[in-house]
Amino acid sequence: MKEIAKVIYFDNAASTKTSSENLSLFMETSANYYANPSSHHSLAYEASHKLSEARSDILKALNIKGSSVIFTSGATEANNLAIKGVAYKYASRGRHLITSAVEHPSVLEVFKELEKEGYEVTYLPVKEDCSVDIDSLKAAIRKDTILVSLIYVNNEVGSINPIPEIASLLKEYPKIVFHTDASQSVGKAEIDVSEADLVTISSHKIYGTKGSGALIKKNNISLSPLFNGGGQEEGLRSGTYDLPSAVVLSSAVKNAVKNVREYIKTLTPLKDALFTYLEANPALYHINSPKDCTPFIINFSLLTKKASVVVEALSREGIMVSTRSSCHEKSNDPSHVVMSMFNDEKLGSESIRVSFAPDNTLEEVNYFIETLDRIIKELY
Ligand code: PMP
Repeated sequence: MKEIAKVIYFDNAASTKTSSENLSLFMETSANYYANPSSHHSLAYEASHKLSEARSDILKALNIKGSSVIFTSGATEANNLAIKGVAYKYASRGRHLITSAVEHPSVLEVFKELEKEGYEVTYLPVKEDCSVDIDSLKAAIRKDTILVSLIYVNNEVGSINPIPEIASLLKEYPKIVFHTDASQSVGKAEIDVSEADLVTISSHKIYGTKGSGALIKKNNISLSPLFNGGGQEEGLRSGTYDLPSAVVLSSAVKNAVKNVREYIKTLTPLKDALFTYLEANPALYHINSPKDCTPFIINFSLLTKKASVVVEALSREGIMVSTRSSCHEKSNDPSHVVMSMFNDEKLGSESIRVSFAPDNTLEEVNYFIETLDRIIKELY
């Protein structure tokens, strides 16, 4: 492979680099609090105290009251627990579920499974800005609806759903549980998840560690567990507590929430520079992200070249971006998100996602633009 001077990492929506602070925290917690928090001796009590602290810090940082934190192996597990947990627990109330067409596979695939089990699912369409239309949500609600699950910030195009507005609308329907997958929104937008019944978060999207996340659950909501065992996490997620990951997740959430305004301020000029270039070349690119997307995630489609070829060419030049999202292991299908927005196979198949972290710079974006422009014009 050609030697590259420096890697420009623009694939942060797929996973971020664990911060050195969080790496140290992980190691220190592993070294100093190794006892099992469920045991009954003083070392275990210290570990258990640390775990409680991590839970309350997460709730405080996200301004959530009357809830508990269920630590999981990431957002995929949290989404599965939320959706199946509600579907099975409240099946006697009704078997109608609502989600949107642009959710992450860890949501959509769960709904597809539940359809096979006899549940009815409404997949709400989205507007051209990729957000859910509140009127179509209202129209979809039925007497037997038990769950609405909607993404906060879309992982492919960075669009932002009006989650607080939807949560207050759903307050009028006390039998409907409201879940939001907020894993790409923490630290990327100024969010309000205080009124959602269930909230999914993930550590490796915010400079924490991989394989760690949580489902935050209002106390009046019950769930069926995905698996059974020692009864940890209120019986909802058995398995020995992973204290180092929990402590890192709490530190990652605290930092992301504390710094989000600063992050947005830092990244807006980067987003603007990329938008300006793409807009100036309408014969080459179609911008898929809405204008008001988070500055962390920008998605566009190539009109004259193949996205997979261009992403490889960029990688050879040291620039890491994604075609659509990295969550579709082997699929070559067009992006379901871009398809839902524009209903155009070409746009759906040739999309590129550029996703920033706050340590990315305008120089890097300018270098990316120059390189992309050259590649697009040189490739035949
Ligand atoms: N939801 C969204 C919106 C995501 O972007 C991702 C990660 N691509 C997930 C869920 C799954 O997260 P995890 O890797 O923590 O399971």
